[in-house]
Amino acid sequence: MRIAIIGGGISGLSAAYYLEQERAKGAPVEYTLFESEGRLGGVMFSDQIGDCVVEGGPDSFLTEKPWANQLCAELGIADDLIGSNDSQRVTYILVKGRLVPMPDGLMFMVPTKLIPTALTRLFSWGTKFKMLGELLHPPRPVHKDETVAQMVERHFGSEVVDRLADPLLSGVYGGDAASLSVRAVLPKFVEMEENYGSLCRAMLAGRKKMAAIQKAKGYKPKPLFSSLKGGMQQMIDAIVARLTPAWIKLNTNIESLHQKDGGWELTTAAGVEQYDAVIFATPARVASLMLKSTDAQLSDDLGRVEYSSSITCTLGYKRDDLKMCQPGFGFLIPRSEGTRMLATTFVHTKFPFRAPDDKALVRCFLGGAGDQAVLKLTDEEVTAQVRKELKQITGITAEPWFVKVYRWDRAMAQYTPGHLERIERIGETLKRMQNLSIAGNFYKGIGVPDCIRTGKEAAEHMAALARAAKA
Ligand SMILES: Cc1cc2nc3c(=O)[nH]c(=O)nc-3n(C[C@H](O)[C@H](O)[C@H](O)COP(=O)(O)OP(=O)(O)OC[C@H]3O[C@@H](n4cnc5c(N)ncnc54)[C@H](O)[C@@H]3O)c2cc1C
Repeated sequence: MRIAIIGGGISGLSAAYYLEQERAKGAPVEYTLFESEGRLGGVMFSDQIGDCVVEGGPDSFLTEKPWANQLCAELGIADDLIGSNDSQRVTYILVKGRLVPMPDGLMFMVPTKLIPTALTRLFSWGTKFKMLGELLHPPRPVHKDETVAQMVERHFGSEVVDRLADPLLSGVYGGDAASLSVRAVLPKFVEMEENYGSLCRAMLAGRKKMAAIQKAKGYKPKPLFSSLKGGMQQMIDAIVARLTPAWIKLNTNIESLHQKDGGWELTTAAGVEQYDAVIFATPARVASLMLKSTDAQLSDDLGRVEYSSSITCTLGYKRDDLKMCQPGFGFLIPRSEGTRMLATTFVHTKFPFRAPDDKALVRCFLGGAGDQAVLKLTDEEVTAQVRKELKQITGITAEPWFVKVYRWDRAMAQYTPGHLERIERIGETLKRMQNLSIAGNFYKGIGVPDCIRTGKEAAEHMAALARAAKA
């Protein structure tokens, strides 16, 4: 069976890698990977600047999600995995121009420790009393999807939406709490509310249960985030080294796609090619356009997935230039503070491997759903803005020894209300249309591990189809 993979980001590359594995196990599959750009990896991209590793897109992945770790083990690069330096994991929130550490016991915006919550300057007394009252929240069946902001406001009030939910979600999704679906991005919160009513009580119960399991199993805590010594690019390079070079077509944009004789006809600038099956690993809008004449509902559902754009700007300093900065991983900035920056990571603290002891890397994140216009700024304007805001917030005034700006146009899928229903309908259509699969960050999770999972599942589906056709 000849399979076309459209898109060479981590999702498409994972599909190609797992098709290679299936071939090695005897599945009758061949593939061609089409990538419109001149390089593979999509938004996953690392630069070597002097003796520092600088990440353009993702800088790490969640350790607890297994697919990236598994892939690294299969690729033989597990020894190069590094964990985040969690002993120094303090994250600050900018409140009225001052950096306030997130209080101990805060579990993704849900407080679980009384004294740190009572003492923090992050919340007003009104919010603290509301948090105490939240313990009495009755269980509530959730019939309709709502936004994260709506749910968090019901439990803890609007200040927690502004100071925690929004900044945390802009860090992960480049989106805001008022437009992301709680069922899609925080399904555990929905479950907790249904079972316990109070999110605080549910978190405490979950933590107790988990501690008992971990104790019984002699579990050693793992770092929250993992990355690779050589940067995230190392994963891309290791995958590419295991693919068949003749089956990769760079600088080849797929222009259109049509069903023909039970298979698919793809059009590129070079002409028309026939395939038995297709795996889409592009942003949903690209798949939507190409599938318009094939299935109107599928195309419509794909076309409704919104994306946000972002910029990352990394500045290199001497370590001594940052003496005035408070120790920790960095800080998040609520929109209400009026800055253009949304978050800053002190990379040399989070991943000391990224820079030598005398150097510091400061990575700033701008854009997101609330500021798409940021892409219109020139690199010089981005740099000037970032340096101005860094000076205001942290007091850094030194001249950086390098600045690098990366732009990501409509790269982060937004899981808005109704997303899960759309994804379910897409899944139903794909069950009917067996020789079409979909992978990508809009499908089963935005992070790198979930993208790998979608590529792997698409490859396994196609291999099973090829085996069945041969039998
Ligand atoms: C700034 C930023 C920071 C992030 N940080 C993290 C993080 O720290 N941890 C984490 O887990 N995740 C993070 N993410 C999310 C994660 O990196 C992405 O969701 C993931 O890398 C997306 O991979 P993908 O292959 O699905 O899509 P992409 O990387 O977007 O790849 C899609 C590919 O399809 C190609 N393409 C498009 N149209 C066509 C066509 N017609 N023909 C051929 N090719 C086409 C594109 O050129 C592109 O290469 C971050 C994302 C961004 C943007």
